[in-house]
Amino acid sequence: MRLVILGAPGAGKGTQAVNLAKTHNVPHISTGDIFRSNIKNGTELGKKAKEYIDKGLLVPDEITIGIVKDRLTEPDCQKGFILDGFPRTIEQAEKLDAMLEEMGVKLDKVLNIHVPDDEIVKRMSGRRVCPKCGASYHTVYKPTAKENVCDNCEANVVQREDDKEEIVRKRLETYHKQTEPLIEYYTKKGNLVTVVGKEKIEDTTNEVIKALGEF
Ligand code: AMP
Repeated sequence: MRLVILGAPGAGKGTQAVNLAKTHNVPHISTGDIFRSNIKNGTELGKKAKEYIDKGLLVPDEITIGIVKDRLTEPDCQKGFILDGFPRTIEQAEKLDAMLEEMGVKLDKVLNIHVPDDEIVKRMSGRRVCPKCGASYHTVYKPTAKENVCDNCEANVVQREDDKEEIVRKRLETYHKQTEPLIEYYTKKGNLVTVVGKEKIEDTTNEVIKALGEF
């Protein structure tokens, strides 16, 4: 399976990507996760990326494209991959097309998860993540078993700095301006499928399975 997942921040791309990567046994490539792990490890890349991420802006294409190129040439991507959060600009999509052509492969589908802005703001304010193992929770929709403690590793869960409401609104603005045009880009190519993200994760998962059909 070679899949791109599109959608606004907080639409549930990561959650669906993790599920699909597991069921199809392909790597899950999240540029957001790559940036966050670089920030955590204090790398030069992390320092640069943080300046943009904290403001709700996109990390510049010249940084992001190189990262994805390196990742896609790793051997585990030969059997397929799920790209979550990349591409986010037309320039990135064009560069991705060139990378895939060089690899001699094509995207099977582009999955667009649509969620209205107001719903996103509501969802993101409740999102909590585990800083140790990366598990994702929601105070209402997917609470931890013990309050504020990760079910997997017992670390205290936190709110991502960029999930605070003011930054979420800026990220949505960035999404509409720079990423939404990709819907038309992939519609023209004929491989876009759209699902409406539901409140319950399992409901969205079922919609995704239906929309993707046989793989
Ligand atoms: P995410 O976890 O996918 O929501 O990404 C978190 C943040 O990382 C985004 O708000 C951007 O600042 C940055 N980021 C992630 N992926 C990309 C990308 N493909 N291009 C530019 N910036 C990105």
